[in-house]
Amino acid sequence: MDGNNATIEPACRRRCPDRWCCSSRYLVQAPVWDEEINRIARYTGRSDFHERHGDESVLRVRADGYCVFFDKENRACAIYAVRPFDCGMYPFDFYTAGGDKRWLLWDCAYSRQMDDIFIEQSLSRFESRHRHALHRIWNYENESIDLTRPVGFRVLRPMRVAGPSGDAGEFGDP
Ligand code: SF4
Ligand code: SF4
Repeated sequence: MDGNNATIEPACRRRCPDRWCCSSRYLVQAPVWDEEINRIARYTGRSDFHERHGDESVLRVRADGYCVFFDKENRACAIYAVRPFDCGMYPFDFYTAGGDKRWLLWDCAYSRQMDDIFIEQSLSRFESRHRHALHRIWNYENESIDLTRPVGFRVLRPMRVAGPSGDAGEFGDP
């Protein structure tokens, strides 16, 4: 089911020596949907991990800028099995350029190991299996992608997400 992270094949590792992407020093706080909040609350027994930013909820960060669920000692996500969809896409992300939504791939030790075939398989998998979730994140503000940030990325091909009725190209370039 889209948005159910148990079905997101790990694009990203539970433990990662970098894990810069869990810090608000580099990225905005991770958006989290209501059903994800409920699932994380059941998993952790906590209710103090999210806050509102405008129209959306996000995971809180600690004083050091890291997500409340970042396990510093193990360099791991403490809620990996139920992390928000937005986290589950990493190191893939998307970027709006001239009204065109394009996939991008953040630079990290893991993404550097990916060849073009693996990248295309990953994008196709997201587009086919998680299209409803991709629709939900479609309008996220992408000024969060600050080109001056110290972490680089590669801009990939346009997103191809079928519309709710299954019409290809409604949201992306066919
Ligand atoms: S939920 Fe996990 S993967 Fe997402 S920002 Fe927090 S620690 Fe990182
Ligand atoms: S996106 Fe890269 S840096 Fe971030 S946790 Fe995943 S593998 Fe590590």
